[in-house]
Amino acid sequence: MSHDPNCIFCKIVQGQIPSKKVYEDEDLLGFHDIQPWAPVHFLLIPKQHIASMVDLTPEHAALMGKMAVLVPQLMKELGVTNGFRTVVNTGSDGGQEVFHLHMHAMGGPRPWLKG
Ligand code: 5GP
Ligand code: ZN
Repeated sequence: MSHDPNCIFCKIVQGQIPSKKVYEDEDLLGFHDIQPWAPVHFLLIPKQHIASMVDLTPEHAALMGKMAVLVPQLMKELGVTNGFRTVVNTGSDGGQEVFHLHMHAMGGPRPWLKG
């Protein structure tokens, strides 16, 4: 499993920075965003360091598919029943601030802080 020692999300994966986990398996970690935009706002990340969607290759297809399939399942477990929003920011113009690929998943009753 490849990690970047300077990456904040790799540190979360390795338990060096605490997080409020919503999901974990051998490939993926889900945890609540530290600055939530919505009543429920978690991030789903691959445990291996992939900087952004630009770095994906065909061998990552199953991993990304697994992420997509998990989000509705986790939302249901977290009590979100009226829809949700998923966002993946990519690169500077895409508004990406943390360069470890992550999927935002936001839900819960509106109004939301953002989005
Ligand atoms: P981006 O703009 O890169 O798509 O979003 C990065 C997200 O990571 C932001 O929503 C930010 O609040 C969240 N974030 C940044 N640092 C931490 C952290 O240390 N812990 C948690 N749980 N979330 C973080
Ligand atoms: Zn990383």
